[in-house]
Amino acid sequence: MTLLDCVYEGRSKSKGFGRYKTIRRQIDKPLVYKRIPRKFYHYGITKESFVDKLSRTERPDLILITSGMTYWYLGVKWCIDILRNLFSSTPPILLGGIYAQLCPDHAHTLGADGVQTVPLSIDYFYPALDLYEAPNYGITMTSIGCPLSCKYCASKKLWSTYKRRPLTDALEEIAFQENIPTVKDIAFYDDALLINKESHFYHLCLELQKKHPHLRYHTPNGLHVREIDETCARYLYETGFKTIRLSLEGNDPAIQKASSGKVHEIQYAKAVRNLLRAGYSLSDIETYILVGLPGQSCESVQKSIKFVKSSGATVKLAEYSPIPGTPMFEECAQRLPILKEEPLYHNNTAYCGYISQDITAEDLQSLKDLANNFNDKTR
Ligand code: SF4
Repeated sequence: MTLLDCVYEGRSKSKGFGRYKTIRRQIDKPLVYKRIPRKFYHYGITKESFVDKLSRTERPDLILITSGMTYWYLGVKWCIDILRNLFSSTPPILLGGIYAQLCPDHAHTLGADGVQTVPLSIDYFYPALDLYEAPNYGITMTSIGCPLSCKYCASKKLWSTYKRRPLTDALEEIAFQENIPTVKDIAFYDDALLINKESHFYHLCLELQKKHPHLRYHTPNGLHVREIDETCARYLYETGFKTIRLSLEGNDPAIQKASSGKVHEIQYAKAVRNLLRAGYSLSDIETYILVGLPGQSCESVQKSIKFVKSSGATVKLAEYSPIPGTPMFEECAQRLPILKEEPLYHNNTAYCGYISQDITAEDLQSLKDLANNFNDKTR
């Protein structure tokens, strides 16, 4: 089996904790973005390098292509087109991943032989880290899905029920990755890592402290803030969780309702206090605030930014992107039916500041400036 990760192969400068910046090259904008005053880039491996690596690979019996965000599909098409040109009779191509699951009809138009919308039935569940040359970080999920139902989130669409994996499986997976000498960091991609923490996360932490004390841990998907009491904050700190991302989304009642009421101001302030007491510094604590949701005013986002800054934490603005299969997508598609036809319109940069009309590009920039000014003062 051969793996070709087009993002990993296009890595450049290190960003710390095993992550890299990805090389990019400006290319012509698709027609959809012609009126949007932003540049358009190809990220990752160059065509020359891709073709070169493929030419040195034994002809495969089957090609599996994965995909991520729906509005990145042009990269998937780019790969399929090159593969079709390179092999005189191309082996069957199966397209899977998040885009394929969320937009199966659209995915069928890209030229693959099949679109896989459910996981393939294989016994092996470890991430294929052994297929990378020298990976710097590993990944894991101790659970799949989320018991909550936020109106903008695709977790329920991708994983219809929330399930925890046996901890022994997750620990074996981490041990397998730690055996790769270059791996020093592990990122947890759970959507709901802290749910029922006493019977799950705390046991996991004790095992990690015992078996893998030298690894650093990260939670890029955001943690459920209300679960972070004093004990939980201590477990996070003592186990070596370095990147703490809190999902606040917004403190406006309408945003909180769309966010399953998952955290209120008092719970957020307490969580930050608990993390500081446990040993984290303010710059370690990043908080996601959503911007550009339907019906959300600029003032509401300003208020959320000021609220987060009043606690001293770092603001991370997340521009809203309509995701097919979510209730909020349907709401957006009623106003803009083209969202159902063309995934490029889902692009958060394009949708949020230019397409949706929910927020203007100027207001969006002023919110980014406000957040950056506040963040600079914390650093
Ligand atoms: S809590 Fe997070 S993962 Fe769960 S539904 Fe809401 S946004 Fe999605």
